[in-house]
Amino acid sequence: MLTNRMGLPSAIVRAIQNDPYNAGASDISVTALLTPPYQRGLKKTCTVVEDAADRMYSLIGQIGHGIVERAYPEALTEDMKALSPAECQRLHGVVAERRLFTQVNGWTVSGQFDVIEGTMLMDFKFVSAWSVMGEHKKEWEYQLNFLRLLAILNGMDVIQLRIIAILRDWSKLKAKVDSSYPQAQVVPIDIPVWDITKTREVLKAMVAAHQHPEPAPCSDEDRWKTEDVFAVMKEGRKSAIKLHDSHRAATEHAASLGKGHSVQARPGEYRRCAEYCNVSHACPTYRGEVPF
Ligand code: SF4
Repeated sequence: MLTNRMGLPSAIVRAIQNDPYNAGASDISVTALLTPPYQRGLKKTCTVVEDAADRMYSLIGQIGHGIVERAYPEALTEDMKALSPAECQRLHGVVAERRLFTQVNGWTVSGQFDVIEGTMLMDFKFVSAWSVMGEHKKEWEYQLNFLRLLAILNGMDVIQLRIIAILRDWSKLKAKVDSSYPQAQVVPIDIPVWDITKTREVLKAMVAAHQHPEPAPCSDEDRWKTEDVFAVMKEGRKSAIKLHDSHRAATEHAASLGKGHSVQARPGEYRRCAEYCNVSHACPTYRGEVPF
């Protein structure tokens, strides 16, 4: 069910509704594999509720298709589509937007890559600037390595993996004053290539977790839990003097400051549950923690 609480223009809502995404004739896609099995299990038993405003990132992400279309028109012709992806790679050196399939534990697993140029598999992502300023996202590593495995199993050769990150909130001004900020709106990120045996094993284990009739509840990692912190507070002041990772450090700090100082525990937040889970209204774990 798609709601429109923010009253977005109908053109935008229609564009969201006409989502061309199709996982093909598969039991699970690589994208779905990367979601928590518990969350995916809940989706089968309740109405998924999403607001149009929360689907904007996904809509913007689909602009990647336009980039591929304009950058590699030769790879999307009917003649090329009539060839197998492996033949395209061998004869033309570039393959775009092909959905590939394989069997794992009795399930058909599918995944679609954006482009394979030469032997490099590339995926376009629309992300915020902060998400490229530290370690790359772990899920990118899983996704691209699973796509590589699918490509290899379908007769292709892939030896390099790259995310082309397009920063939707990039600021020219920030780039001028902060050299640690991305200096351009597009950032290529090379992703480590896993050993193929390891990739198969990880894929198998993740498929098995989704096949389980009673998936384990989401872990803190699945729920994107932020760190618990301990705030040193001063009587009469609303903001913390300092936040500490450990209760002991906060207690010692408060004691060193003397009377009128105390420690306030601030538990981490479950960011995915609160903002990015479209079955949170039906999730027993989250409902037990937050009033609905
Ligand atoms: S609300 Fe949180 S715990 Fe529940 S399914 Fe969603 S991510 Fe998992």
